[in-house]
Amino acid sequence: MVTKRQGVTMPPRPPTGWPPDDTEESVVGTNLHQATITNLRVGLNEVAAALAPPGQAAPGQALSQTIIRNFRRRMGMNKPIVVDSHHHFWDPARTRYPWMTDEMAAIRRPFGPDDLRPELAAAGVDYTVLIQTRSSEEETRAFMAIAAATPFIAGVVGWVDLTAPDVAERLAALKARPDGATLAGIRHQVHDEPDARWLLRDDVRRGLRAVRDAGLAYDLLVRTRELPAALETVRAFPDLRVVIDHIAKPPIQSGEIAAWVAALAPFKEQERVYCKLSGIVTEADWRDWTARDLQPYIDRVVTIFGEDRLMFGSDWPVCLLAASYTTVYATLRDALRGLSPSARDKVFGANAIKFYQLILEAQPCESAWGEQEHDDTHHRDEDESHENLVGGTLWPDSKHVD
Ligand SMILES: [Zn+2]
Repeated sequence: MVTKRQGVTMPPRPPTGWPPDDTEESVVGTNLHQATITNLRVGLNEVAAALAPPGQAAPGQALSQTIIRNFRRRMGMNKPIVVDSHHHFWDPARTRYPWMTDEMAAIRRPFGPDDLRPELAAAGVDYTVLIQTRSSEEETRAFMAIAAATPFIAGVVGWVDLTAPDVAERLAALKARPDGATLAGIRHQVHDEPDARWLLRDDVRRGLRAVRDAGLAYDLLVRTRELPAALETVRAFPDLRVVIDHIAKPPIQSGEIAAWVAALAPFKEQERVYCKLSGIVTEADWRDWTARDLQPYIDRVVTIFGEDRLMFGSDWPVCLLAASYTTVYATLRDALRGLSPSARDKVFGANAIKFYQLILEAQPCESAWGEQEHDDTHHRDEDESHENLVGGTLWPDSKHVD
């Protein structure tokens, strides 16, 4: 049953002054809200106790619970939308992931919506974009079905063979599926191609043209080596929506920065090209990184792309090799403390919505408050369909590995 994406309901703009600037003491929005609510509860109980007639119990607890619930609901509505523009799911028991080498042993287990949901709730993230992990149209179809059944997933970046002569037909077939509206973009593991100029091949260009003509975005997965070809590509396709994943994977562990900056800097003038603040901790020393190691790289992309062309992505569960979901989120928020609150709101939500042209479900199902205050009928439907999908036919069968 696909009920998602029927109607867009954007919450009203936050009132000025909200949210308060999250300073260094409270880098994670949820902690800030919880602290505010705790203070409110204490204050209300004190007022209720003072007002209670002598000899009668203060109605404080019941009163404050009601007011707090309303307060939370209002804040939830007014909170800026937070979008994680980049994460994955996988199931290594069902299929093979060529990139999942021995050093990835810590994350070689299934990850699905039920694993991510509590992480989103803890960090206060409302919506996500699910990104391909394999060169497999079957995975793309599986991800689209999961997205259609999971309200917090606002879009899928899938894979098609860009070199296939019938790439336009393949894209049209994906979009024609009942869950076709979940497809937001296409990605290919360009940095794994032996040819540094793979993007410039005639057949790849035909594929990118088809992506553009299908109205989809394109995620560029490249490193410094492929950035010159990427630059030529975005110049050749001025109306293709392009985002560079993982700030083009700079060599943070070695501390080298000059070659990466030189290759990335020309994108400053490519005003339609976005960049994801994602995958950064895993380019640093997994066991020993500090926020200080990341800061110079983050500062450079802020200079190059600016507050309107950057978007937050967790790269979960890959990030777990180096940091938890909440650590990645809090570290990035802190690294961007030099931006204004409204600029950070764009990086943590609005830019991804605009770039991927996301259609948001009115109720993403998750509650950053850890309790459900709305009708949960929908959750039960969703849980059932999710179980059917994942337990049954959705994940690519191992005999279909490609
Ligand atoms: Zn990733």
